[in-house]
Parts: sequence; structure tokens; C-alpha cells
Amino acid sequence: MKITDVEAIILRQPVLDEGIADGSQDDLVIRIHTDEGITGIGEVDSSPEAVHALVSATSSHAIAHSFHSLLVGEDPTDIERLWQKMYRGMNYIGRRGIALHAQSGIDIALWDIKGKAAGKPISELLGGAIHDRVRAYASMLMPDTTEETAERVSALRDDGFTAIKLGWGPLGKDPKHDVRLATAAKEAAGDGDILIDAGHGYGADAKTAIGVARELEQLGVYWLEEPFEPDEYEAYAELADTVDIRVTAGEQDTTVWGFRELIERGHVDLVQPDVTRCGGITELIRIGALAREHGVETVPHAWKSGIIKAASLHANAVLPDATFQEYCVADTPINQTLVKERMPLDADGFVAVPTGPGLGIELDEEVLERYRVS
Ligand code: MG
Repeated sequence: MKITDVEAIILRQPVLDEGIADGSQDDLVIRIHTDEGITGIGEVDSSPEAVHALVSATSSHAIAHSFHSLLVGEDPTDIERLWQKMYRGMNYIGRRGIALHAQSGIDIALWDIKGKAAGKPISELLGGAIHDRVRAYASMLMPDTTEETAERVSALRDDGFTAIKLGWGPLGKDPKHDVRLATAAKEAAGDGDILIDAGHGYGADAKTAIGVARELEQLGVYWLEEPFEPDEYEAYAELADTVDIRVTAGEQDTTVWGFRELIERGHVDLVQPDVTRCGGITELIRIGALAREHGVETVPHAWKSGIIKAASLHANAVLPDATFQEYCVADTPINQTLVKERMPLDADGFVAVPTGPGLGIELDEEVLERYRVS
């Protein structure tokens, strides 16, 4: 089998609010075609136009290629070899950031092709699912008021979620208000778990974050995510070494080298690689192994469409310590309708790992065409 084309498709909803941290308002879908008629799909959570350029640009030289020129003519089932070829071929413009984001979406599409060709789900190709379902946490933006927070959390509990994460929005501007919002969420959650994502809210201010973390600890909040800017490793270490609440980060990081730094310098309790950014399914599995060696849990970050949900579920299926599947509940058409499968919760608040070949999902072509801008 040979790759005949690599498409980077930009999707965008008609009206987009760039002031909120909702990455499901637009999308970059990767579609890889082969000479045997099998098509693989992936997705990238990054700047869609920039990823599009890296996929389709003209190659410059031996370590400044485009993904299209690196991949066309290759056997898509040679995933590890192609991962290394892409990493090396984009060395000059890549290694971290957007090139790794693009490579992640391509890696997911290659796994989809390999699974479809073998008639097996990706989790089986990864060694076999240890988990056939994973506990979901609903993931939403933090509302501005305690009233709305309580209302939204109650509604999600009614929907069957046993854990709910609230992030970004007003968090980080006023520590007292942050604690009030978390208190309202915890009270509304009953015996459900609440996770708080500070969205870099405390900059590098470990002292303020320690104060908030101690209050969240008293409330029984499950974790405090991304209190600092991603490179503020010393602040992460100071916080994680001081408090008992779990400290977590990593959605901004790529490759095992990036995560090694976060774990060894930042002392975090959990890492959150995003499969559409960190280097794809291939690299997420390596990051999970690295984390486990350090006694650190891996909970994949996932906020885009059903493509990232499915790709993360396959990775989660083979992580021995899989704890949570992030389940974005943003009311955007890309999150809710781009793939045909709805991946519902079961009665215990878990979501099943797809069992069809490859990712086990299908794009809704009508939705793709409706929001397509390229
Ligand atoms: Mg986050």
C-alpha cells in the first residue's frame, strides 16, 4: 500500500470567539489517501492555517521538508519509520510546536489506515486493550458566577458524569473568587469529583497558587491543572512539593523530551499529553511509559472533535494506569457533530473504547463540507 495524498482540511464555525479558550470552534482535519482506497483521518489542535502550510508547502532542503513530500509514495503502515522520517525531515522547522502538532495529526491518520487495513481497532494494534472503557470527566469552561457554576455542574451530574472539570474563564484573576467558584462546583457535584484547570492563571506566582491549592485541598478537589505558564518548571516544583492536591500539566508539551523536562523539573503528579499535539498516538504511548517510570499518571488532554476523543480512547485503552478520558462538552458543531459516533456515557459514567477498525469512527461529510474553509 502507498500513500497517494495528504490533505489538510481547515474547518471553522461561522462566528468564532477568539477571547475564550475553546479550541473546538475550528479544526484542522488530516486525511491521508492510499492507492488501495483506504483513507485515514486525524486531527490537529493548533493554528489550522499554519499546519496547512507545513503539510502542503514546497520542500526547502533535507531537514526542512513538507509533510506532503515526505509521505507521498510511502507505505502508511510503517508508522514508526515514518514518525522518525517526519521528525528528522522537519528538524529545522520542527522538533516542538506546530511541526510536531502537524505530525501528531498525521500519525493518528496513519494508525487509522493501519487499523482499517488489518480490520482491527488501533487499541489492538497497540498490544491489546487493557481497558474496554474509561471513566469520563466532563470538561467545560469555568463560568463567571457561582450560580451558573452550580447550575452547570448539577446538569452534568444529571447527564451521568461522575467527574467534572472547570477551566480557564475567570480563573487566576482573583484567588478568593477562584475558591468561591470551586466551592460552588464541589457543593453542586455531591459525591462527584471536581477538577480545576487554572489555565496558566497564576503566571509564575507559586505563593498565590499554594494558597489556592490548600483551599482546594480542604474542599476535596481532585486536581489543580496548569496553574502556571508551561515553562515555569520551578513554580510547578515548588507547588507540587508543598501541597497534597494533585498538580497536573502538559497539554502544551510535545515529545518525550518535553515531558521528561516537565516531570523531572516540574515534579507534577500527572501529565496530560494531547494526542493531536504531543507527537500522535505513537509518542503518547512513549510519554505514558516515561511517566509511569517516574510514578506519574497520564491523562490525555482532549478538546476538539470526536476524532481526538476516539484517538485518546485508543491510547487510554493501553495505558495500564488510565484514570480518565477527558470528555469535552462544548456546545460547538465541531465537537458535537463532526464524527457520526456520539460516544455516549454508560450507566457508570464511563465511555467505551471504539471497537471498529482503525479509530472506529466515521466523519460526517456533510458537516465537514459545511464548515470547510479550504
Ligand atoms: Mg487544560
